[in-house]
Amino acid sequence: MNRRDFLKLTASIPLSLSAMNLKAFENISSGFEASDKMPVLFVGHGNPMNAITDNAYHKSWQELGKKLTPPKAILCVSAHWLTRGTFVTMSEHPETIHDFGGFPDELFRQQYPVPGAVDFAKMTIDQVKYTTVHEDFQWGLDHGTWSVVKPMFPETKIPVFQLSIDFTKPMQYHYDLAKELAFLRSKGVLIIGSGNIVHNLGMIKWDGGTPFDWAVEFDTFSKNMIETNNAQALIDYEKQGKAALMAVPTTDHYIPLIYAMGLRDKSDSLKFFNDTLDMGSLSMRSVIFS
Ligand code: ZN
Repeated sequence: MNRRDFLKLTASIPLSLSAMNLKAFENISSGFEASDKMPVLFVGHGNPMNAITDNAYHKSWQELGKKLTPPKAILCVSAHWLTRGTFVTMSEHPETIHDFGGFPDELFRQQYPVPGAVDFAKMTIDQVKYTTVHEDFQWGLDHGTWSVVKPMFPETKIPVFQLSIDFTKPMQYHYDLAKELAFLRSKGVLIIGSGNIVHNLGMIKWDGGTPFDWAVEFDTFSKNMIETNNAQALIDYEKQGKAALMAVPTTDHYIPLIYAMGLRDKSDSLKFFNDTLDMGSLSMRSVIFS
């Protein structure tokens, strides 16, 4: 997203949210059953301003954080950390990265000084056999992570680490790798994929308005495939033709959903939240598997 797009998003998003059904987030976590494994989330993060804007998205993240069993650590697979090869953050004090431009100073002043989760990162490197997971000492927490996790857990006590997205790999790689990360759930780690299922910034309707047909079509397709646990159809999303082409012009924001699907257990229930389309071409649909 370039600076101009961000500015436009900043200006237009509060209005577009005004009609959202605020009841949606109240139901997010009702019905959670106590479990010996942590839930898995896919969160549509959208505009970075959602981190500090008192809107329905932000409120749903706050509500969710209150209802979840506090995790021992959080692993985030963010759309905003793309690498050649797969890396985990090893920093003991990860920096809050402001990886955007054109926003108010208040957003740049945001800090999320949580500890890193070096032990869990090392465990991830040791346990994953499907590929080599490399150590990274440079990356901190990008806004795909902190814009969502900070509203959920504002007290900055829970260690957070990230896993990068190897942008050179096919969709199947991400799904297969995610399966090998599932052990972290039973270690008390909350895993969050942070992106957007439909994410076409070039087609955004700055003044709001009805979603594009292809955005509705692809969001509905994704919803149905999540509900029926048809991960293969989501991996093969390009078979959806034009709708897929328009909804996923680049794969960065879609891939975190594939991680969440790979981490899903057959016995998990699912709940959608923030399941609205914003500004015509941005799906905020989020899901919790627990
Ligand atoms: Zn993003």
